[in-house]
Amino acid sequence: MGEAYDVVVLGAGPNGLTCAAYLARAGAKVAVVERNVETGGGLVTQELSGFKLNYHATYMMLGELMPPMADLGLLDGGVRFVRPDSQVSFLFLGGKSVTLFTDPERSIASVAAISPADAERYGAMRREVDRLCEAFLVPATFAPAVEPIEQVELLKGAGKLGERIAEISELTPQEYVDSFGFSDGRVRAALLYLTAMFGLEPDEGGMGFMAPVYLSRLVQSALVRGGSHQLSSMLRRRTEEAGGSVVVGRAARKLLTRGGKAVGVRLDDGTALEAKAVVSTLNPEQTFLHLLEGERIAPELTDGAKNYEWEKWSLFVANWGVVTGPPQYRGYGEQVASSLIAVMGYESPDDVLSHIEEVKRGDLSRMAGHGTVCSQFDPLMAPGHVPFGSPHTLRWESWAPFDTNWQSEAGPYAERALSFWASYAPNLKDANVRVSVAWSPKDIETHLPTMKRGSIKHGSYTSLQMGHNRPFPECSSYRTPLEGLYVAGASVHPGGMVILGPGYNAARVVALDLGLNVWWREPEMVQRARQAGFLPARG
Ligand SMILES: Cc1cc2nc3c(=O)[nH]c(=O)nc-3n(C[C@H](O)[C@H](O)[C@H](O)COP(=O)(O)OP(=O)(O)OC[C@H]3O[C@@H](n4cnc5c(N)ncnc54)[C@H](O)[C@@H]3O)c2cc1C
Repeated sequence: MGEAYDVVVLGAGPNGLTCAAYLARAGAKVAVVERNVETGGGLVTQELSGFKLNYHATYMMLGELMPPMADLGLLDGGVRFVRPDSQVSFLFLGGKSVTLFTDPERSIASVAAISPADAERYGAMRREVDRLCEAFLVPATFAPAVEPIEQVELLKGAGKLGERIAEISELTPQEYVDSFGFSDGRVRAALLYLTAMFGLEPDEGGMGFMAPVYLSRLVQSALVRGGSHQLSSMLRRRTEEAGGSVVVGRAARKLLTRGGKAVGVRLDDGTALEAKAVVSTLNPEQTFLHLLEGERIAPELTDGAKNYEWEKWSLFVANWGVVTGPPQYRGYGEQVASSLIAVMGYESPDDVLSHIEEVKRGDLSRMAGHGTVCSQFDPLMAPGHVPFGSPHTLRWESWAPFDTNWQSEAGPYAERALSFWASYAPNLKDANVRVSVAWSPKDIETHLPTMKRGSIKHGSYTSLQMGHNRPFPECSSYRTPLEGLYVAGASVHPGGMVILGPGYNAARVVALDLGLNVWWREPEMVQRARQAGFLPARG
């Protein structure tokens, strides 16, 4: 055995770094192992010729609500969120549009401009999704998952709001949107797109409760000033300041076991790190099939990993550093140009649903998706030294299949995306493109093997893979049946996106098991959810 640690964390993505930072501050001797030369996982910001490009995660849905922001002093350290009031515009044919703002009233007014009847319905929906998020859905992110039967019982006993959550938990995301009775196909398309944007299947039974999360939080989302990577850099800094070590450019190859316990990890250069606790933020296949290959482990772990379901589609991301003004959307109102996200190409729910089906079949013929000009809201993203014109970073994202010959398709597909965007904003046709990066689902998997098949969330959201079932019941408490081994990545409750919940929740479990000082307080929002009966009293 090589150097001895209390805790070795595998993977320096948002969850690995969060878990490590809490445990290091609790007094543990911690090492984080990362296969890439830089930490951050999905928080990637690359600077090319001065243009800062977010290759992966860009829209932060929870921002300051994430407990590590205050607990770990990330805000004090300089992490800042930029949250435009005008959040997402949906562009329809004929110069029509709907813009959703952080302010519900302005959103309602915008819906009213194309459908007065739906404006009222949107108002009702917005009030509900915001209340559900505040009372239960966001607090539940920062508490361990509860067994399904117990959770339903709690919800049913927690008044009307609880009953409503239990009710919508039976629905599909599409049924949830439709339950408000919207009549205008464009409004339905817009709301359906928001729920499906990050790979939630519209017809997935039992996933209705996820729709409010996206419908509420994707109209309050923010950029990290200076690029998404800033958030991970501050998490790394807090880990190291508390005495933690970060080992980069070396992959975990084998979990070491002794007497039926995990006792460390061997890296790809042969180094062995000894540990009282190994915390894996890798995906279930990596953890239970690859790192434990040849070990005698509980069959539920190998079976669970073999049967784990991946998302059926991924995202294609294109980034350009350009010299031009920001997009000027011809024929559309001013609020469209000032929106964080502009969604293009969907006129009806059928457009959204058909696009998903086409992408699942590998058919790339339709172009539709959304664009963001990060530099418009955050000048740090574009260089000041470009001597002429106005530099900007354009980012395009659209649903995409994994199984395509991306080596030959990625470049042309990115060009099509830019032409499509320019069909709404003609000034982009003349953009002087200085740098261009097409980032396909294959590139995602190559860069981050945790994201198998370009997975956005380390695995599908289905009722069999969420909450207490994520990744499978034996591991959803962050402990695993293999003593000394813990799981803490996006494949564990509360799941994917940069919400820091898995790493945060796992840190407490590991700290308790190792007898460390749990120095942080449970967030007030979680305490309120317990008092209101949505979550169990703390044991
Ligand atoms: C294209 C795309 C766009 C996205 N956009 C958004 C967004 O806008 N907003 C948002 O909130 N979320 C977004 N996400 C999702 C988000 O990026 C992920 O859910 C999140 O990064 C998961 O965090 P994690 O720490 O669990 O895992 P990861 O971020 O996957 O980090 C795991 C780390 O483990 C490392 N690793 C892998 N194998 C090994 C090994 N054998 N040994 C050591 N290290 C290893 C990886 O290199 C990686 O650094 C997006 C994802 C994708 C793919």
